[in-house]
Amino acid sequence: MTLKKQKVFEVISDRERELLEDYSRDYMEFLSTAKTERMAVDIIVREAEEAGFRELTEAMEEGIEPGDKIYRVNKNKMVVLFVVGQDLTLGMDIVGSHIDVPRLDLKPIPLAEDGQANMAYLKTHYYGGVKKYHWTNLPLALHGVVFTKDGKKVDLHIGEKVDDPVFYINDLLIHLSRKQLEKKADTVIEGEQLQVVIGSDSSGQDDKVDEPIKVNILAYLKKEYGIEEDDFQCAEIEVVPAGPAREVGFDRSLIAGHGHDDRICSYANLRGLLDRKEGVPDRTKVALFVDKEEIGSVGSTGMTSNFFEYAVADILSTMKDSYSELDLKRAMGRSRVLSADVTAAYDPQFPEVFDYSNSSLLGCGITISKYTGSGGKGGSNDANAEYLAEIRKIFDEDGVIWQTGELGKVDAGGGGTIAYILAKYNMDVVDCGTGMLSMHAPIELASKADAYETYRAYRAFFNA
Ligand code: MN
Ligand code: MN
Repeated sequence: MTLKKQKVFEVISDRERELLEDYSRDYMEFLSTAKTERMAVDIIVREAEEAGFRELTEAMEEGIEPGDKIYRVNKNKMVVLFVVGQDLTLGMDIVGSHIDVPRLDLKPIPLAEDGQANMAYLKTHYYGGVKKYHWTNLPLALHGVVFTKDGKKVDLHIGEKVDDPVFYINDLLIHLSRKQLEKKADTVIEGEQLQVVIGSDSSGQDDKVDEPIKVNILAYLKKEYGIEEDDFQCAEIEVVPAGPAREVGFDRSLIAGHGHDDRICSYANLRGLLDRKEGVPDRTKVALFVDKEEIGSVGSTGMTSNFFEYAVADILSTMKDSYSELDLKRAMGRSRVLSADVTAAYDPQFPEVFDYSNSSLLGCGITISKYTGSGGKGGSNDANAEYLAEIRKIFDEDGVIWQTGELGKVDAGGGGTIAYILAKYNMDVVDCGTGMLSMHAPIELASKADAYETYRAYRAFFNA
């Protein structure tokens, strides 16, 4: 007999179910429009400003008081929101989520034409952990920025509107796949084969033109966007599945979409902070949205960057008469964190990789993971029992439906989060996020019930 878990849909009231459906609609809208970390930052900033948040550098000139709502963006790909408490040196309550998602990035020199095949392509380099064969045979969109030689920033978004063209990566037809199907899944489609079809029209060019399809496409890009081939060297363009998130099932209880990992926790983080109770908190409340988690949290917009610490220093130095390094260390060291990231929900198609009784179950609420890691908890934060008890109390007092879950069986594999990076400051940290299926697939699957309880959990933490 295993510990019985509460099923969210069974136990919540009709009124709560309405709120759950409203929240799911809002989340699906976010998931459908925040297709890249840059787009997520834009939406988070817009919603924060509407809720009265001010940009930190501007706020530093005007002065900062307890109760103030402040945000700061890092290089358009990372953002942090603060509700400033009575005394920063008491420590902060931080929910840390990430807004980057596994996908395909265009190479710096992406355009290629196969004259024999009569097709033009964009070359890609995949980002994060993906099963490469997942990315074939899907309608794809392009999102990103390109800088022209004269310094103009061009935003590129193609493939989401119904009448937009989409892009495509072809796979070998089944009829000729006898050899391919004998390969290991890892090599069925290889990295260099993830080339995106972008056209096949060579009309209007004479025979002497070397790459006529490419020439036509470049002429189109010049006319529509003012960009030239060498501008792609100063660009970040991401290839993602085209189209919006969708409800799944006759009962519409699930959501399929690109980037649940980790936008399901990121949206819950945003809404959790914006919907917290009014009033000046004792401890500063922080919603952190970082980039680069999927490639190890490195880089200036990842969690290992000092950006967050410097932002806290800026707030401290604005509020106090004299800035002290000791105050900063106390603010950081006395903080507690929910490392807001997704986990694997039990998948009945693959029971062999799960210990059922220690698995996150779909529809049974937010999942607390004491540890992640691999090979004997390697690289894991492994939260303190004392801190787990503290979080349980917060969740229980607010009626949050939660469960514990390990990321699969011992030695079945593993994964990491940003938890250990914040723990370095001596913060109390625990991994706490949404269980889901098909993690890191181009389109992932999650339960509306778990999305909603994730939001309620983060809100309870911000209200505590
Ligand atoms: Mn994640
Ligand atoms: Mn991930």
